[in-house]
Amino acid sequence: MRAFEATEYYFHQAADLLDLSRNIRALLITPKREVQVQVSIERDNGQVATFIGYRVQHDDARGPMKGGLRYHPDVDLDEVRSLAALMTWKTAVVEIPYGGAKGGINVNPREMSPRELQKITRTFVDQIHDLVGPDSDIPAPDMGTNAEVMAWFMNQYSKYHGFSPACVTGKPVELYGLPGREEATGRGVGIVTLKLLGRMGRKPHQTTVAIQGFGNVGSHTARFLHEADCRVVAVSDISGGYYRPEGLDVPDLIRYLHQNNYSLSGYPNAEPISNEQLLTLPVDVLIPAALGGVFDADLAREVRAKAIIEAANGPTWPEADRVFQQREILVFPDIVANAGGVTASYFEWVQNRQHYRWGRDRVRQELDRIMSESFERVWELATQRKVSLRTAAYILGIGRVGRATILGGSVT
Ligand code: NAD
Repeated sequence: MRAFEATEYYFHQAADLLDLSRNIRALLITPKREVQVQVSIERDNGQVATFIGYRVQHDDARGPMKGGLRYHPDVDLDEVRSLAALMTWKTAVVEIPYGGAKGGINVNPREMSPRELQKITRTFVDQIHDLVGPDSDIPAPDMGTNAEVMAWFMNQYSKYHGFSPACVTGKPVELYGLPGREEATGRGVGIVTLKLLGRMGRKPHQTTVAIQGFGNVGSHTARFLHEADCRVVAVSDISGGYYRPEGLDVPDLIRYLHQNNYSLSGYPNAEPISNEQLLTLPVDVLIPAALGGVFDADLAREVRAKAIIEAANGPTWPEADRVFQQREILVFPDIVANAGGVTASYFEWVQNRQHYRWGRDRVRQELDRIMSESFERVWELATQRKVSLRTAAYILGIGRVGRATILGGSVT
C-alpha cells in the first residue's frame, strides 16, 4: 500500500459513516492540481545536480491552500499527494480558514551546504511562484526545512510579486515570523497528550513517554511534556535511540543537539538503543515524530504503549490501525495531534496581512484554546458515535469541507 491509499482508506471509513455518494467522494478526494518541476543547481564543487520538486494543491473549498515543504531523499508524488490531503482534513478539523496543499523536493538536506540549499529553494520558487501566494497556497516548514528556508522562499517570491511576507509561514521571528511558531507543533502535541492522559485517568508524573524523532516537533514535544512533569524515558533521531528509564534530562538533550550539529549521535547520558527498540518500549505514551509509515501490522502487535499520539504525518498504516483498535491501544490521529503548527502559521499569516504583531503569550493562549477545543470535539464525537478517534476527526473534517463545497456552489 502507498501513502495516498492509506489516506484514502481513512477517508472512506468516515465517508461510509457519512453515507457520501461515490461522486461526492471523488470530488473531495481528487487533488485540484499537481505540479512536478525540475530543480537543477550548480553544486559548490562545480557539478550539476538535478532534483525533482513537487507541489500538490488538494482542496481550496474552505480557503487558500496551506501545507509544508519537505526536503527528504524519499519525497515522491504519492507521498506529497497524501500529505496534501491530510492538510485539507486537518485545517477543517481545527476550523482554520484554509484548504490543503503540500510540497517537497527529493533532496537530502544533510548532504547539501547552506549555499546549495538556498540555490535549490530559489530555483524551486522560480518554477512555482505563479501557482502559490498569500491568497492561493502558502507553504511552511516541514521535515528538512526550517525558518531559514522560508526566508529564502519569501525573498525569491518577492522578487516576482513585490513585498509579500504572507506568501510563506514559519519565517524567522526577525523577518515577519511569529514568536512561538517554531514550538507550536510540539506544544500542540503536548497539549493533546495531557488532555488524553486526563481522559485515561492518569497524572503526568505517573506517565512515561517515548518519542521517535528529535527535530522540530520531537524536541519541542519532549520539552513541553518534561516541563509538564511527564517522564520522557526515550527519544531517537536518525542516529539511533537514547533510553534512560528514570527519565531523560530533556534540557540537557536539547543543549547537546544544538552543540552537535542537530544530531543526538554520541549523546553520553543515556543508554543507546535502536529505533525499533524505542517503538516497543513498555511506556504509557508513544509519540512518532519523524517519518510516515512507521507502524505496520507486525510492529503494531509488538507495541507495548497504552496510547499513541501521532505527531508525525501518516505514521500508521491501516493494517496497524486495525491491530491497535483490536488491542485497545488509543491512537490520537495526526490530523489533530500535529495541527498546532498550521494553527500558529495561520496566526502568522493573519498578522503579516495586518502588519500587526502578537506577543508569545497571546500566541500560546490562542493555540492552547484551539488545540483543547479540537481535542474535545473529536473525543465527544468518537464517544457519541462509538468510532475511533481517527474516524471521528475525519468525520468532522470531511463534513466541513463537504459543506463548504456545496455552499460555494462550485458543483452545479
Ligand atoms: P525535522 O526535520 O525537524 O526532524 C525530523 C527528525 O526525525 C530528526 O530528528 C531526524 O533525525 C529524525 N528521523 C529521520 N528519520 C528517522 C528515522 N528513520 N528514525 C528515527 N528518526 C528519524 O522534522 P519535523 O518538522 O520535526 O517533522 C517531523 C514530523 O512531523 C513529520 O512527519 C512532519 O510531517 C510532521 N509535522 C511537522 C510540522 C512542523 O511544524 N514542523 C507540523 C506538522 C507535522
